[in-house]
Amino acid sequence: MIQVLHISAECYPAAKTGGLADVVGSLPKYFTKAGMLSAAVIPKYALKWIANHDWVTVYSGSVWVNWRQYRFSVQQEAGNTLGFPLFVVDIPGLYDRPGIYNDPSGAPYGDEIERYITFQQAVLDWLLSFPWQQRPKVLHCHDHHTALIPWMVKYCPAYQQLAPIPTVFTIHNGQYQGAFGWNNGNILPPYEAGARWLLEWSGIINPMATAIRTAWAVTTVSETYLYELHQNSMGLEQLFRDEWRKQWGIINGIDADVWDPATDPMIRHPFKNGDIETFKKKNKEALCEWFGFPADVPLISFIGRMVGEKGVDLLPDTFRRLIYDGTKACFLVLGTGEPWTQNQFRSMAHQFPGRFNAVIDYNEALSHQIYAGSDFLVMPSRVEPCGLNQMYAMRYGTIPIVRTVGGLKDTVPDIGEPNGEGRGIRFDQFSVEDAVHALYRAVGLWHNDPGIVAVLRQRIMAVDFSWEQTIGRYRSVYNSIGAHVEPDRPEMPVDQANKMVEKARHALQPDTEAGAAKKKTAKKTPPPAPQPVAKPSKVTVKKALKEEKPPPAANPEPKSAIKAKKKKT
Ligand code: ADP
Repeated sequence: MIQVLHISAECYPAAKTGGLADVVGSLPKYFTKAGMLSAAVIPKYALKWIANHDWVTVYSGSVWVNWRQYRFSVQQEAGNTLGFPLFVVDIPGLYDRPGIYNDPSGAPYGDEIERYITFQQAVLDWLLSFPWQQRPKVLHCHDHHTALIPWMVKYCPAYQQLAPIPTVFTIHNGQYQGAFGWNNGNILPPYEAGARWLLEWSGIINPMATAIRTAWAVTTVSETYLYELHQNSMGLEQLFRDEWRKQWGIINGIDADVWDPATDPMIRHPFKNGDIETFKKKNKEALCEWFGFPADVPLISFIGRMVGEKGVDLLPDTFRRLIYDGTKACFLVLGTGEPWTQNQFRSMAHQFPGRFNAVIDYNEALSHQIYAGSDFLVMPSRVEPCGLNQMYAMRYGTIPIVRTVGGLKDTVPDIGEPNGEGRGIRFDQFSVEDAVHALYRAVGLWHNDPGIVAVLRQRIMAVDFSWEQTIGRYRSVYNSIGAHVEPDRPEMPVDQANKMVEKARHALQPDTEAGAAKKKTAKKTPPPAPQPVAKPSKVTVKKALKEEKPPPAANPEPKSAIKAKKKKT
């Protein structure tokens, strides 16, 4: 029986634009591994990973949304490749599109309210078909796309049978609240008249506010971020304060199977025999060759969405300051986002060859290589609910330079702190001066104290950010709301977990479909070469593209579809 069902818009590797996918792709896996079968359900997008896998229909139904009937089916991944059951909801006309939030030109889809309300209703309709003793013990909803579920099960007569199931709502990003006007209120399923006020915040329907009021427990992805939401959450501060009793801050883990420097197929030189120096050196050399950098200066990188909350607009001036004053360092950025920032980076790549380069793209494989081959990873975020990049960087021996905010504060103590537990370099103010100062400290450390750099690398690579550490806290949340999520078998290796998943699938699968599943191996994508904005030199580029291509990208979504900002309100 599925104990926890995660309901989300993203799940790695099927559909990813950022950290939400990474979390939903690993939390159920580690719960399942620990003997508590957990599953995830997302919409069925027309994305590469989804298209390359076989799906078995486990339920078909229909929902009414604004006097329009949508037929849908719930399908399970037949190969059980993820270590937990992944379900997709196929809703023709709404999700069979090549992007998650945006079309291939980067423009957001205009019917997102209808898309998410239909998806949420479809999931609940499917859950009603479970015999009640087979229903999940917890419905775990992620971000505003699924935020109306806790309210729907309580106040919409069609779904009230599910009301006894405890609901948990996790906020991965409080900036995107999914708000819409009452003029679209008719899209909602019929609800009790007295429940109307629960939808409203500041005169409009605000799904995130509704979830904070109606979910049995609310979690955010770090303790500091929870505290910050109480101070500043785009108008929801008072609501967060009023509802503080049911709120928890739980730092994310990272999928230690995917992010393992010893086995990662996306990096050039795996980590062998505990030799950190060689691992870093060789991976850096590969990067330097691709991007035309000298290998005898520190390489400082940035990876991420180029949007305001990531503070990336601070970087062009910061990097320029260091380049102009002759600091011996080079800089690399990977990401997509706001045109202003992209253009700044494009022109800098032409202006400072050998010092700065940029890849304006979403490239999963290249990101792994950058984590492995950089000396430092800079994260100047304005807001950072948890931040996964700093954890990936540390796992790959790259020292983080972070602004003291949200999850970055919780995971990166400064090396200057007296207890000897520092992991990186921190700066407090969101200003070019502070960022420049932090980068000077990093560059100075690299040139003057290689011994400290070596000790630091050893220390950060040994930090345990795995989900095993974190799932206990989620269990406490589930149990605190009476869900009693407990291992119904001892911890098991992945292949055994897969068998259990397979069994669960057969239990859910209608007889007519049994045996229809044929495992199909995912098509191998041709290895993409990184496309730096400025090519280092003909010889280097030729070599990089011919010999040193990074391994296949695992990016399931066409690059262009993720170009613009990831989630829109
Ligand atoms: P957010 O979810 O706010 O974007 P997180 O730090 O939680 O930020 O997660 C970001 C994830 O997205 C990481 O796995 C990071 O490596 C990945 N990522 C972001 N931008 C890119 C990109 N351009 N190419 C490859 N991976 C990226």
